[in-house]
Amino acid sequence: MLTPLILAGLFALFFLLERFLPLRKATRSLLARLVVNLAIAALTFIAAAGLVQPTARWALRWSAQQPFGLIHLAAFPGWMEFVLSFLLMDLAFYYWHLANHRVPFLWRFHNVHHIDPDLDVSTAFRFHFGEIAFSCAFTVVQASLIGPSIWAFAVYQLAFQAEVLFHHSNLRLPIGFERLLSKVIVTPRMHGIHHSEVRRENNSNFGTVFTFWDRLHRTLGLNIPQSEIIVGIPAYSLPNDNRIGPALLMPFGKQRDYWRRPDGAVVERTQAPSDPNRARLAE
Ligand SMILES: [Zn+2]
Repeated sequence: MLTPLILAGLFALFFLLERFLPLRKATRSLLARLVVNLAIAALTFIAAAGLVQPTARWALRWSAQQPFGLIHLAAFPGWMEFVLSFLLMDLAFYYWHLANHRVPFLWRFHNVHHIDPDLDVSTAFRFHFGEIAFSCAFTVVQASLIGPSIWAFAVYQLAFQAEVLFHHSNLRLPIGFERLLSKVIVTPRMHGIHHSEVRRENNSNFGTVFTFWDRLHRTLGLNIPQSEIIVGIPAYSLPNDNRIGPALLMPFGKQRDYWRRPDGAVVERTQAPSDPNRARLAE
C-alpha cells in the first residue's frame, strides 16, 4: 500500500516542479495531452493490477521453490544477493525495452508511448494496455530466471517506477549535476533523447534505472541538446494521431512508415554525433 502512495507523491512533485523548471518547450496544450495520457494510463493501471501483479507474485512463489534461478547458483551473503538481483532485473528490463523497439510486433504497441508529442511526467504512465499484457510474459521470465526474493523484487519495482517518473519528467536539472547523475542513473535529458523523432536517437538510451547497460552495449546517446529535440514519431505527428481512440487502435491497423513525416520527408540530423559513447551529456 506504501508503494502507490510514494509514486503518487512523486508524480505530484515532478508535475509541480515541471511548471517552474521546464526542460523542453511544450508544443501542444498540456490539458489536451493530460486527458489522452490519463485515459491511456487508466487502462495501463487496470492491466498492471489485474495481470502483471498477480503473474509476478505467482512467478516469484514458483521460482522460490525451484532449484534454479541465477541468484541461487552460488551461496551469496544476503546483501550481495539483493544487489545482484537488483542489477540483473535492471539488465533484463534493458533487453525487454530493446525488444520493444526492435521486434516489429512489440514496437506497434510501444510506439503508442512514443507518439506523445511532448514529454513530461504524464508520459510515464502512458503505455498501451497490450504492451503491459505482454510484459507479463517478460516478468515471468525475469523473476523465474533470476530468482529474486520477494523483498528484492518489491524494492526494484519501486525504484523502477520512481525512475520511470523521474526520467520522463520535463524537469531542468543543473547540467553539471545531471552529467554526474547520468554516470549512474537515467536522467530526463538522457531519456528526452530516447523520445526524439530522429531514428538514431530513438534507438539509444534504453536503460531504465542504471546507465551501465547502455554504456556496455554501446547504445548510449548523450550529445544532443534538448532545444534541438522534436519529441515523437514522425509518421504519427499530426494532432489527430494523438487522440484516445486512434492511439489505442493504432497497433491493430496498417502501420505507417514510422520515420517519415506525413509529407514524406525523413527526419535526420545533419550533424550526426561523432561517437555517442564518448560524448558528454549536452544541455
Ligand atoms: Zn522506448
